[in-house]
Amino acid sequence: MKITDLKCAVMGGYPIVRITTDEGIEGIGQAECSKPYLKPHVLFYKKYILGEDPTDVERVMLKIRRLGSFKPWGAAVSAIEFALWDIAGKAAGVPVYKLLGGKVRDQVRVYNGGVRFKMEGLEPEHFADNIAKMMARPEGFSIIKQGIAFHSWMPHGVPDFFYGTPQEGPPHPNRGLLTERGLKHIIACVEAMKAVTGDKIGLALDCGPGFTVPDAIRLAKAMEPYNLMWLEDMLTGDYTPYVMADLYREVTRSTSTPIHTGEQIYLRQNFRELIEKKAVNVIGPDPADIGGIAELKWVAEYADMHGVLMAPHGTIDGVIGLAAHVHAAAAMPHNYIALEYPYTSDEWWYDIVEGLPTPIVKNSMIDVAAFNRPGLGVKFDVDKALKHLEPEDADFFD
Ligand SMILES: [Mg+2]
Repeated sequence: MKITDLKCAVMGGYPIVRITTDEGIEGIGQAECSKPYLKPHVLFYKKYILGEDPTDVERVMLKIRRLGSFKPWGAAVSAIEFALWDIAGKAAGVPVYKLLGGKVRDQVRVYNGGVRFKMEGLEPEHFADNIAKMMARPEGFSIIKQGIAFHSWMPHGVPDFFYGTPQEGPPHPNRGLLTERGLKHIIACVEAMKAVTGDKIGLALDCGPGFTVPDAIRLAKAMEPYNLMWLEDMLTGDYTPYVMADLYREVTRSTSTPIHTGEQIYLRQNFRELIEKKAVNVIGPDPADIGGIAELKWVAEYADMHGVLMAPHGTIDGVIGLAAHVHAAAAMPHNYIALEYPYTSDEWWYDIVEGLPTPIVKNSMIDVAAFNRPGLGVKFDVDKALKHLEPEDADFFD
């Protein structure tokens, strides 16, 4: 089998990848809806993969994997990798998880990091109201993550939150030392949320990036009575093109509160230090940024050997991304906690993609059997999808 074309269309903000072959089998992939600008980056790889056998996924990946980088520049490579597995599964007549070694679990747990309600303010009562709304969602999420501190509007909206000047612009630009008032405000908001949740759900917090090491230690120690699932991305994280494992290790060694990072990290090599030094307790690679499904599986196995847990990032990976997550999560070892449920607010996505269960999430779980078809197990209803293409992508499904 040979690859005959690589196409990319932007649908509802999501870059969608389609790879065709000389045997009529095709594969699809998807990147986050925050990255419509990736289209030319996806097409950049076309010349490297044309004529290759897509069922030799690793051999194709060796041609393009080194030409990517940390978030957002690993996403194009990752979306192409999804499409290759889709083809390889269809060619073999098995779901992708079978090609990853087979499933370890029949259901995969998801957590809520993306199904959101508008925050009415930044005071403790607003955090309490907001978490109550998320707990009432029909998905029955057993773990909910809330953004606080530098991963919220606190630097702008809480007076004298930190000893820096609030910055505007691209995601999470603020960084600096907290004031005592800032630290106390964060703690009060967590107390208010825990008063609502009790032990009914696991509470995780997305915190940054932006913390200094002393503040990260202070917050983590203050959180110890609350049995949080994890504190995410305090020092580095989303859109930080480096890891700083030694700093994370200092924080992790100082507290019993689990410390989490890794959503922006590209490739297994860049997880090595975090894992080998046990610099965090939980890592959150995103299959749509790390380099794909197999890269995520590899890192999960290596993490398991070092006592590091897995909670993959996925907020805006879309419904094809959801399928990729489910196959990878089904095949992960027992260090798997839950994946971050990719929720898409454009309801039409659920009409134009076939193969998704209804409802998708029940009691915080997704049935792997729902994706028990060759490949990723989801495909476009082309007639319905056509009307969501931009005019310049009119030939995407040809
Ligand atoms: Mg995060």
